[in-house]
Amino acid sequence: MAGKPLIYLDHAATTPTRPEVVEAMLPYFTDNYGNPSSVYSIAQKNKAVITECREKIAASLNANSNEIFFTAGGSEADNWALKAVAEAYCDDGLDIGKDYISDIGARKNAFGKKRGRHIITTKIEHHAILHTCEYLEKRGFEVTYLDVDENGVVKLDVLKNAIRPDTILISVMYANNEIGTIQPIKEIGEIASANNIIFHTDAVQAYGQIPIDVEECHIDMLSASGHKLNGPKGIGFLYIRNGVKVGSFIHGGAQERGRRAGTENVPGIVGLSKACEIAFDTMEDRMSKEIAMRDHMIDRILAEIPYARLNGHRTKRLPNNVNISFQFVEGESMLIMLDMAGICASAGSACTSGSIDPSHVLLAIGLPDDIAHGSIRLTLGDENTMEEIDYVVEKIKENVGRLRAMSPQYDDYMKHR
Ligand SMILES: *Cc1c(COP(=O)(O)O)cnc(C)c1O
Repeated sequence: MAGKPLIYLDHAATTPTRPEVVEAMLPYFTDNYGNPSSVYSIAQKNKAVITECREKIAASLNANSNEIFFTAGGSEADNWALKAVAEAYCDDGLDIGKDYISDIGARKNAFGKKRGRHIITTKIEHHAILHTCEYLEKRGFEVTYLDVDENGVVKLDVLKNAIRPDTILISVMYANNEIGTIQPIKEIGEIASANNIIFHTDAVQAYGQIPIDVEECHIDMLSASGHKLNGPKGIGFLYIRNGVKVGSFIHGGAQERGRRAGTENVPGIVGLSKACEIAFDTMEDRMSKEIAMRDHMIDRILAEIPYARLNGHRTKRLPNNVNISFQFVEGESMLIMLDMAGICASAGSACTSGSIDPSHVLLAIGLPDDIAHGSIRLTLGDENTMEEIDYVVEKIKENVGRLRAMSPQYDDYMKHR
């Protein structure tokens, strides 16, 4: 597509790494290659750099720096959180002594008293959570998958009713990757805390996009990933509140306080920290710019294209998320047509595209199969412009018209309405 500008509207799948981030990382591949565990000064400098990065990230969440554990991304953080809590808090949990580091000075002193095999999550989680839950179910854990309302919001009374004496963990995502709905995280955290249950949130879509405070929201564990906030791929972190008992996820050396062994991904950590710094410095402006583009796009599509509906909550949604269903349209066909116009978008989540099952999130908010199949997700970023949004709306309009003109169902509907 020579000369055609690329319009990237798939920031929920991944984001471009900012040039400043790449620049910050480069010296750690070349000159500053020392292993942070070594004793000579070039290595010790890297150890100090990791500490600085950890402090910066902790501050962005209102956490302590010893509560941030670097991982190889969001999926690993999600896996670790669920498997580790299951192992440490199950009724017949192995007591493998110091492998479970229970920190002195815990801010919540009741952790560790409650044991059981029941976990609560939702039907709209990312597969990194859902497939880990299925794994745990095969190993004797019981999982309750909460329904959500038509906007994708967890109902608090339903959550309260699901809690049992043997519930050890509640895992609810901060914001959904497909429909952008932001959950009532503070209220969920209060319920978890009042019932002495550990609260984990997959904040991969929310971290760096909207403000997050782990204290205010009673969050005990939180997953985040670099490549969703203009940082590098393959790096992320798990926040673990002091006092939560968690065993080692990767056994080996003493890195990450013995809980996640392996020589640190120093360039990745530096890149993540730089991306985090920029994301938090620019958050306010970026949010208002993205919300303006998002709302303009939603308003135009709903006003100008008939038989279209917005998926997800109208206002409690990520600043950058647009998810629309077009009746009598195949989402996959729409993506191909948009690609020919140089526009990158998504039908459902990247993990489900290519499979013929409609998105589990769209089904959970009550969409029938055919409407779910006609859905597209457009997720905006800092580098997008209002001109691009208008161009994309025109292309969507044009292609919805073309696809409906070829649809026997649409023809039939128009004849009989
Ligand atoms: C992308 C994503 C993940 C996975 O993160 P990776 O770093 O790609 O492993 C997990 N949860 C949500 C909500 C995501 O959007």
